[in-house]
Amino acid sequence: MGNRVIIDENVCKGCALCTTVCPKKILFIDKGRLNDKGYNPSAVTDMNLCIACAMCATICPDSAIRVERE
Ligand code: SF4
Ligand code: SF4
Repeated sequence: MGNRVIIDENVCKGCALCTTVCPKKILFIDKGRLNDKGYNPSAVTDMNLCIACAMCATICPDSAIRVERE
């Protein structure tokens, strides 16, 4: 269990805004993946470090991120 960040990969446009606001720097643009729209989606490195601040979800212009607090 723990805080969880759920990224709807196929909604993400790879704008990287979420990666810039995360205070824990656990979000990154995954250059190794392509979503259905042809974008590199955002992904999480270490979910255990997430403090569920929801900054990422708030800034995402496409509402691709959902945060679940433990
Ligand atoms: S909820 Fe906060 S700590 Fe967790 S991934 Fe989003 S911005 Fe980072
Ligand atoms: S802010 Fe939203 S659309 Fe932009 S990279 Fe992050 S999840 Fe994807």
